[in-house]
Amino acid sequence: MNDSNRITLQSLGAAQTVTGSKHLLCTPELTLLVDCGLFQGIKTLREKNWEDIPVNPADVNALILTHAHLDHCGYIPLFVKRGFRGKIYMTPPTADLAEIILYDSAKIQVEDAERANRMGFSKHKPALPLYDEKDVDKAMPLFETVEHSVEYRLSPNVSFHFRKNGHILGAASVVMSCHGKTIVFSGDIGRYESRFLLPPSSISEADIVVMESTYGDRLHGDSDPLDELADVINRVIKRQGSLIIPSFAVGRAQEIMHLVNTLKADQRIPSTLPVYLDSPMAADATQILCRHTHWHKLKHDECMSVCNDVVINRDFRQTKKIISTPGPKIIISASGMLTGGRVLEYLKHLAPDPKNAILLIGYQAEGTRGRRLKNGEPELKIHGQFVPMKAGVEEISGLSGHADQSELLQWLGQMGQSVQKVILVHGETQAQETFAAKIEQELHIPAQIAKEDEEMTLFNL
Ligand SMILES: [Zn+2]
Repeated sequence: MNDSNRITLQSLGAAQTVTGSKHLLCTPELTLLVDCGLFQGIKTLREKNWEDIPVNPADVNALILTHAHLDHCGYIPLFVKRGFRGKIYMTPPTADLAEIILYDSAKIQVEDAERANRMGFSKHKPALPLYDEKDVDKAMPLFETVEHSVEYRLSPNVSFHFRKNGHILGAASVVMSCHGKTIVFSGDIGRYESRFLLPPSSISEADIVVMESTYGDRLHGDSDPLDELADVINRVIKRQGSLIIPSFAVGRAQEIMHLVNTLKADQRIPSTLPVYLDSPMAADATQILCRHTHWHKLKHDECMSVCNDVVINRDFRQTKKIISTPGPKIIISASGMLTGGRVLEYLKHLAPDPKNAILLIGYQAEGTRGRRLKNGEPELKIHGQFVPMKAGVEEISGLSGHADQSELLQWLGQMGQSVQKVILVHGETQAQETFAAKIEQELHIPAQIAKEDEEMTLFNL
């Protein structure tokens, strides 16, 4: 809430970076936060999670969540711990996914802090988790689901509705009516042509668009990701190797499993090829898929079969067995940017062997092991030791969950001439500068790049 006649926006994260999404909207009636994400990636970014943010969480009236990725929802337990008491609005699939993701995040943080204390590699003594499962328990009662396209009133002059954006299951843009103007928060924008998710829903107009720009400087190309996946898998099989696909267990993993099943059904890869999904959350994620069938393209029996042909491993001790199983296999394991999780165990043992391959399917943020691998670094530091990366590194950009430059322009272009200003968030500087110029040149809309913590006046009343 502010006492002036201004509507202001302040990005407390995801400003000139792709992580830590938190966008604070202040109106004379309300203080709202759109997304409440953790900073992930390099240490200097992660350390920001410990810093104070420029707003007292107790002063924020409500939180609106665009989707369940950790860089958009992972700060919620800490926000509640620091005094937030409002409601957290999200779509029904996002609520289901965020619950799993936040408990998993708490568990990982507690485990990391324990490991740091045991091995003595933290400069904090003792190392503490940002939050634990009890903090997540306190956040859960604040969750409030809002169905797709249903207008929800927050105050006399502020209401919003969700429009799906094709990024992950349940992901949506926020279309906010605010004192007679429309402000759209894009969230992460997905793909128009996916075999798994429905395309972004149309949004006819907006005055101001707060928009992600992850791939603002890049085109994914138009080769069919299914062909590329078949090619990668068959090459690895030929040399009797293992294919590691780093991916979060919820959402993207189900999409990959669906594609692998399709290739098996079409006899483009051997139907006997073992596929392992190494994650304690995988079975829950499949149930969520079955529960929200109007958010994706899979029929009920396809949802069920996504996991039928996959060996799901919940037990960390089994990971070593999977590693030593001879013969070609596919292993899907988190985290997607190799920042932590069980995938590191697979890398340690399988990456030094050139017959194996690592397939990168998602965005690899600056400073992550995933980015270093993509850049061709010959070794990576994992759990304190240097591991040679001799396995092949493959990339299928067509499987990305993020729109490329042309899809971003298509999404923005649908709102036509109504848009007066675009504010770019969630992108690295080079992608943002390229995309801002492209927007001005092709759509003739002024585009501004948000700077962290800088307060911008969106309009005066
Ligand atoms: Zn995302």
